[in-house]
Amino acid sequence: MRWPLALLEPGHCRGLKPDGDGLVNLALTINGATVTRIEPLPQIAKPHLPLALPAAVEPHCHLDKAFTWSRAPNPSGTIAGALDANLQEHQSRSATAVAERINGALQKAWHHGYRALRSHLDLGWVGSDATLAAVTHMWDIWRDRLQLQAIAMAPLELWSGASGVNLARCMARLGGGLGGALDHHSTQGSPWPQQLAQLLRLAADHGCMVDLHMDETCDPRSRCLEGLLDLLEQEPLPVAITISHGCSLAQHTPEHLRRTAERLAALHVSLVSLPTTNLWLQDRSSRRTPRLRGLAPIHELQDAGVMVAIGGDNVADPWFPGGNFDPVELWRFAIPVTHLHPWEQRGLTPFTSAPAQVLGLSWDGVLRNGCPADLILTAASSWQAVLATPQRLRVLRDGLWLT
Ligand SMILES: [Zn+2]
Repeated sequence: MRWPLALLEPGHCRGLKPDGDGLVNLALTINGATVTRIEPLPQIAKPHLPLALPAAVEPHCHLDKAFTWSRAPNPSGTIAGALDANLQEHQSRSATAVAERINGALQKAWHHGYRALRSHLDLGWVGSDATLAAVTHMWDIWRDRLQLQAIAMAPLELWSGASGVNLARCMARLGGGLGGALDHHSTQGSPWPQQLAQLLRLAADHGCMVDLHMDETCDPRSRCLEGLLDLLEQEPLPVAITISHGCSLAQHTPEHLRRTAERLAALHVSLVSLPTTNLWLQDRSSRRTPRLRGLAPIHELQDAGVMVAIGGDNVADPWFPGGNFDPVELWRFAIPVTHLHPWEQRGLTPFTSAPAQVLGLSWDGVLRNGCPADLILTAASSWQAVLATPQRLRVLRDGLWLT
């Protein structure tokens, strides 16, 4: 197989010369579910070996609303339209329907080579009990195949009341975390800094990670992230913190952005960027071509030492009609949009090691003796060929071929 040298443990790299794509030819010996031997192959002898990658990690999706576009469509493509359709869909939620959605999504994710997924879930809204029952059931069913993390995406004020405490207990039992959405518009007139402080206290008390939809807007006035950083600087949290989106950061001045990025890095807050949904929703107005990509400033954040992962976010729901839980399709979409070159380490990390670290997984996706035999093989031999054509994937899990 062909493998990115940047995802090979340095001890195996001696004498290996990567090609222009940063790839080297390797042969693996697999014993049971583990890689036990890694040998270099000559570059010239086998030019058409398949490009392989570590099994994928999804750092941010929404399993409970996946594939609801047909019953909750949003033909305007606006954020307001998506929210309306989403809230409408809550009214008719049943545990069976949500479980079927989650199961269908996980089947696709499994066959496309995911090994772990973090999903935000609409909890604390109408239909919350059905969602929680479905998630608890599905987590049990998939436990042996996929590592799953649940984040309760609740109204921010919920975390300040008794139902918030109950929900935090549920999330702790699931090994999950607390979340919500904050931006300049949704927080107008609300005591959101106090509510956010309460969320952080609850997370610390229950040992729950935190992952917030933060500043998902191109409006430069949206600076809720800085409110979070103020709170964390006053009282550091003993649990992992992730922010998702951070779109408005890209609209701040370079100096302002540099300062925010340094604060994020110092507090070890990671960021998940979500190109598909951002491109679909941001800078949208009727009969006007979008000018902005709506993405967080990924490269500047990386330069400041912030861990940045790329996620798939919404799949065929009112917030984005596309997607299919296919990690290589997400790369194919995200590479031209983000300019994250896969032949460079900084381009590979957001799709491989960074999501693994966001989820706190034991394997970072780097190939070494003793690592899991969990791989995705593409049909291509170069990154150019991956970008050129949709890929038929072969997936190896625990040393056995799935497809
Ligand atoms: Zn999301």
